[in-house]
Amino acid sequence: MPSASAVGSAPVAGDLPTADLLTHGQAALEWIASYLDHPERVSVLSQVVPGEIREMLPASPPERGEPLGDILRDFEARIVPGITHWNHPGFFGYFATSSSVPGIIGELLVSALDVKAMLWRTSPAATELEQVTTDWLRQMLGLPGGWFGFLNDTASISSMLALAAAREAKPELDIRARGMAGRSDLPRLRVYTSRHAHSSIDKAALALGIGLDNVVHVEVDEAFRMRSDALVAAIADDNARGYLPLACVATVGTTSTTSIDPVPAIAEICRRESIWLHVDGAYGGVAAICPEMREILAGVEYADSLVVNPHKWLFTPFDCSAFFTTQPGVLERAFSLVHEYLVTPERESVVDFMNYGVQLGRRFRALKLWMVIRGFGTTGLAGRIRAHCELAREFADWVRADPEWEVVAPVPFSLVCFRYAPPGVHEEAINEMNVRILANVNATGEVFLSHTKLDGRYVLRVAVGNIRTEKRHVRRAWELLKAASRG
Ligand code: PLP
Repeated sequence: MPSASAVGSAPVAGDLPTADLLTHGQAALEWIASYLDHPERVSVLSQVVPGEIREMLPASPPERGEPLGDILRDFEARIVPGITHWNHPGFFGYFATSSSVPGIIGELLVSALDVKAMLWRTSPAATELEQVTTDWLRQMLGLPGGWFGFLNDTASISSMLALAAAREAKPELDIRARGMAGRSDLPRLRVYTSRHAHSSIDKAALALGIGLDNVVHVEVDEAFRMRSDALVAAIADDNARGYLPLACVATVGTTSTTSIDPVPAIAEICRRESIWLHVDGAYGGVAAICPEMREILAGVEYADSLVVNPHKWLFTPFDCSAFFTTQPGVLERAFSLVHEYLVTPERESVVDFMNYGVQLGRRFRALKLWMVIRGFGTTGLAGRIRAHCELAREFADWVRADPEWEVVAPVPFSLVCFRYAPPGVHEEAINEMNVRILANVNATGEVFLSHTKLDGRYVLRVAVGNIRTEKRHVRRAWELLKAASRG
């Protein structure tokens, strides 16, 4: 219940006083600092049961404003227990991510400015900072000049834009104006990607009306990389049937194992066949900022588009996905639609980012990315990524040294795929053991791991990527895994 004095004095117009911002903002900052300094006080994986959080919350909204102090107390008591702590050094699931001090400050300022970065004039600094930071990122990745970059919410949306551009790159299809439904003149449009590509590629095909059946999942080799000979065969097959090969999505750092598709060979095939090549480097791409890892983006200079996610492995709070294309004009043709109320006198001389995607209002994501890049510097960022890769290699060495465990995929980045596989035990029992080990380790609340399946084998994953993860956290994960395998 709100206190009587707070309710009685609640204003009916205007914002709360900025004195509240100073008092409670300070309290929130102190909470954040202590949260970051003492992650051990929370369980990485939330231990609540379904419905538990909703039960702790009133079913209807308060009629009158409540004191911010009460709301912050409820945040700690009723919301935090239901948080799975992605920003925790013991988070090794999916792809580990992190927010960071400069990124948090950036988000704070963005929420105060509340900019919609759609037209240049709706915030010139937002547009120009987005141009500058994406160009910094381009240079950090070692990409040549001439790439046009901008920031989206997620790689899923960036990849959907890439496929929309691929469609527009064939203007004779006239899909922008006429759509695809009910047209007997349109061939089936085909998209090629590997069996290990992220589901967002299928979802993009689904959203664009290309259809799931037209996503060709090309076979992979023993290291889970797309087989370029299988790609050639799939395209030839489709050509023979009168289908139209539209786009190919290669992945640098696939979701299950972080395998790297052979982009140079794929780029050559796409060039020959006039197919749009999009490279999904959502997680792995940023590792190219380490000079010794630049090779992972070999061949990308021949692609039409690329996505990398600073919100995955560049210490930038979610969301921030960087999309690059060498063909911004095609993307603009696909999406530009300027109603009278959006016409500006300067439109010919500036970039209006609303013309390159679906959204009109766009978040000012560049500020936090700018603060992260400046706050750590390029060597600081590369050093942290390098340290994560070293921790992963060390973890893989511990696994390999134990005869009861095995590493089941190469470790090109900071992810290790492995499993408990004591000799003499049959496959089905091994799978069941690993399911149980994962559940028991995650129930400790000290670390969180996720899994995948490779050729029918249930596989555990340790993804190192949180900015505060140290060797002791990785070591602890290994101890817990070994203890779970014994118990
Ligand atoms: N692509 C790859 C290779 C991924 O691993 C992921 C997520 O893990 C995505 C795309 C989707 O990223 P987002 O959540 O930004 O849409």
